[in-house]
Order: sequence, then structure tokens, then C-alpha cells
Amino acid sequence: MQQKADFRKELAETAQKICTPGKGILAADESQGTIGKKFVTINVENNEEHRRAYRELLFTSPGIENYISGVILFSETVKHATKEGKNFVELLNEKGIIAGIKVDKGLGVIPGTQDESATLGLDTLANMAAEHYKLGCRFAKWRAVLKIGNGLPSQQAIKENAWGLARYAAICQENGLVPIVEPEILADGDHSIDVCQKVTEKVLAAVFKALNENNVFLEGCLLKPNMVTPGSTNSDRSKVTPQEIGYRTALALSRTVPGALVGVTFLSGGQSEEEASLNLNAMNQLTTVRKPWALTFSYGRALQNTAVKTWAGKQENWEAAQQAFLTRAKANSEAQLGKYQG
Ligand code: 13P
Repeated sequence: MQQKADFRKELAETAQKICTPGKGILAADESQGTIGKKFVTINVENNEEHRRAYRELLFTSPGIENYISGVILFSETVKHATKEGKNFVELLNEKGIIAGIKVDKGLGVIPGTQDESATLGLDTLANMAAEHYKLGCRFAKWRAVLKIGNGLPSQQAIKENAWGLARYAAICQENGLVPIVEPEILADGDHSIDVCQKVTEKVLAAVFKALNENNVFLEGCLLKPNMVTPGSTNSDRSKVTPQEIGYRTALALSRTVPGALVGVTFLSGGQSEEEASLNLNAMNQLTTVRKPWALTFSYGRALQNTAVKTWAGKQENWEAAQQAFLTRAKANSEAQLGKYQG
């Protein structure tokens, strides 16, 4: 079975453009529920106009295109426009930024497991991908979640999520969208960095086996993994250096991720803004592990935490919030090049 040949060239070009040196992805695809969690902290009502205004603030930040090559959108945002009426996808395209779309429908429990999850949305995915290609999106995101602790993740959850990610990736490629394959292993728990590394290697190996079995075109595909860190409540967490995290992460990838893949676009997964930049920088400075792929960012919280607090829903804070966002975008751009000074 052959992938539709007509999209291959475009898929490879899109993936390469996203991985332009010194650039990465802004994950602004929070669902309505998830953005609501941000807005609660700043006392802003979670309504459509506030969601639109906040995204306008981010996307019109002056010079965003110097650091950001792609923006992941939630479906509602794809149809939104600036106050002057310019559609966001068009606005981003004019700046040379590629629009992406979150296509998963959240998580459901896998029966027979200890509350482990599988990602929902495969049944309607082909239509959604085709529709969003027409609306100008050129890549997609699908998030699978695995937990560490009490013997988890189970083999069942690893298999189910790897297969789901691969089915998603194949469907996206048939419809012209570069799939970002996101097997997120949560940092929740007190596990050591060794355990995180072992689980990350197991999960990534299963994911790439499933991608192969589903004839996914790796040159037109991106991986969005967690970094290898101790669990969020592990007592050594604050002692582990960015160099150690960079080394362990690169090692886990080098053991499991084929060199045909263009790029790895990390999630920030609850790291602070500064940690996420320092860890990415350390990984890009590393010379002792083979790294045939671009290593860049696809951060949500680590690009937006200060920006959203600075905005606080007030027009007079607009420019200061944009500057806060640009400060993190620039830091991560430098980290992609291994030139971030902290
Ligand atoms: P964080 O960087 O906040 O983890 O979010 C990235 C993302 O897109 C998760 O799906």
C-alpha cells in the first residue's frame, strides 16, 4: 500500500519548513475547557470573544515570525479573525507561519485498565482533516497520554496509544496534513529519571513500529514527545541539571527514533518557562549523542504563562503581554540553536 504520492512532496516541505533552524511551534490549541483554566487564574470570563481576543494578541505580536514557524489552533480559532476582520489562518500565512489544527477529541478510559486512556476522534478524522486542509491548515496534532506509576503504563495502553497515533498519522497524510505524533508521558508522580527514560524508550519504540505498520511517511511527519525528567514530585527533581535532562532525552530518542524523521518538537509538560528553554538549549548543545533530527519546541504553557498573566484581560496590557510572549519565543528560538544564555 502506497501513500498518495501527490501529497508526499508537500508533506516533506511542510515538515521541513516547520523545522527551520531557530524556529518552533506555538501550541495555542487549548480546547475551550483548557483555555478556561488559564482564564480563571486571571479572572477573565471564558467566552468566545475573550478566546478570540487572546489569540489575536498572540498572533499579532510584532516579529512573531522570527521565532515561530507554526501555530497549532483549536477548531473554533481557525474561523476567527482579527478585530479588523482578517482571518487568523490568512494572517499567519502572510507572516510565513504555517497553521495547524488539533484534531483529537480528548481522552476516554480504556476498559480493563487502571484508568489509562486512549485518544478519541478517529471515526471523524478523515473529514476533519480534509475540511481543515481546505481552510488552509497544513499540519495536525493528536495527543495521546500515558501515565507512570503502579506498574503503569500497561502494555495494553502502550499498544493502544501507539496504534491510535499511527492510524491518525496515516489518515492525516492522506489528506495533506503533516501529523504531529504526540505520545505524552505525564510528569506526574515521584518516579526517577531512570524510570522516565525507560518508559519513554518503550513507548517511542512502540510508536515507530506502529507508524511503520501503518505505512506512515516519516519524512512528512513530526514527533512531539515529553523530555526525559524525574517525576514532578520526585525529591531529586530540582537537582537534575538541564545537561542531564538533555542527555537522557537525546539518548532515548537516538535509541528509538529513525533518522528519516525531520524533527522532534517537544511539549513543555508543566516545566517552567525557563526550565523548558534551558533543557532545549542543553539538548541542542550536546555533542556526545547522535541527533539526526531538528530538536525544537512546540510549547503551550512555557510560551504563554507569563503572557496570559500580563494580559489579565485588559486592553492596556496588550503590548506588555505581547512582549512577554516574544521574550519566551526568542529564548526558545535561541535554545533551538543551542545559543540561549539564560
Ligand atoms: P504544553 O507545552 O503546555 O505541555 O502543551 C503543549 C501541547 O500542545 C500539549 O498537547
